[in-house]
Order: sequence, then structure tokens, then C-alpha cells
Amino acid sequence: MPHDHHDHDHDHHHDDGHAHAHLPPDPALRVKALESILTARGLVDPAALDAIIDTYENRIGPQNGAKVVARAWADPGFRTALLEDATAVVAGMGFYGRQGEHVTVVANSAGTHNMVVCTLCSCYPWPLLGIPPAWYKSDAYRARAVREPRRVLAEFGVTLPEGTAVRVWDSTAEMRYLVLPERPAGTEGWDEDRLAALVTRDSMIGTGLPTAPA
Ligand code: FE
Repeated sequence: MPHDHHDHDHDHHHDDGHAHAHLPPDPALRVKALESILTARGLVDPAALDAIIDTYENRIGPQNGAKVVARAWADPGFRTALLEDATAVVAGMGFYGRQGEHVTVVANSAGTHNMVVCTLCSCYPWPLLGIPPAWYKSDAYRARAVREPRRVLAEFGVTLPEGTAVRVWDSTAEMRYLVLPERPAGTEGWDEDRLAALVTRDSMIGTGLPTAPA
């Protein structure tokens, strides 16, 4: 593995002052190289890594967040508790762990639309939404979500009424946000499962809206 290690060192030099904003030329290859070194030295167990990746790719995903949103739509008491202490409430539903230690839920209303970004890196509520999409981690989204949220929203196909304020929440390792979208009209009397099917991942990041009932 010595030649891999040499390449690894070489690519560490960034002279433009924006090193944090640049991904290495081939992240997948470099991750693979790192994993090989760590495994060879007995520092990680590849089976444990595979289990973690499988968990977040297949078992944990936006369906968890959708259950939370649907319950908040159906149950006003739950909604109140969720907005007061989301971390405890979602933990009570079994949604906790890595990257989900501190969660705040921000509710959309007729006058306010909420949108989530991590300007520094890619903080995201994994237990509720799974692994973040590539665009969430992109330099463009991280910079523009704050600077021109309405244009970003328009590119996602979201046009808000002129009077609606857009609030952008910057996630950190200490606090991650989940948007509680507004319950779509025409869903009166629907049960939680039916409601949950309308909740899209992007509607919980704030770059989308729930699906309208058919
Ligand atoms: Fe981050």
C-alpha cells in the first residue's frame, strides 16, 4: 500500500485558501484506500462498516421523518410536544443515534417557509432522513441556500406566495433541523399511513413541498 499512501499525502496540498470547499479528485478511491489501510492495521472491521452503510442506505431513510410529520399532522398534542423537544419525542419513536443527537423541528405556516442547509459541511438528521443527497453536500447549495434561497427554491420547483418569509436554518454538529411542512388541503380524515405517503424527503429539508393528494 505504500504508493497509495504517497498519493494520499500529495493531494493534501491546497494553495488557494479554500481547501475546505474542495473535494479530493476521486473521493471514492481515496475512501477505499483509507479503508484498506485501516483494515490492514486492524483499526476497523470491514463487516462493521458494511453494516453501518447498509443501515443508513436501506433501513433508515426519509420514511422515518415522514412518520413523524404525519403524526404531527394528525395529532395536535404530538405536534406541540414535537416542536418543544423534538430530540426526546423522535427518540420515543425509536429514531435516534449517530447524527441525530440534537434535533429541532421547525414548522412551516401560511406566512413562513423553512429551509435547512449546513453551510460548513453536510450536517443532517440521519435517523430521520437517512444519508443526505449529493446536492445537499454540494458547494453550490451550501452557499446559495443562504444567499438566494428563493432562487434555489425555484430551481427545486417551489414557488411561494410573495408574502411568505423564507427562514434558512444552518445545521451544525450541535443542532440538526427537520422541517414540518404544512398538511396538504384535501386530506381531512386521513390516517397517519396515508398522510405519511405524501411527505417527501425534500419537504422535510424545505426544498420541496408535500405531494398533493390525488
Ligand atoms: Fe455539517
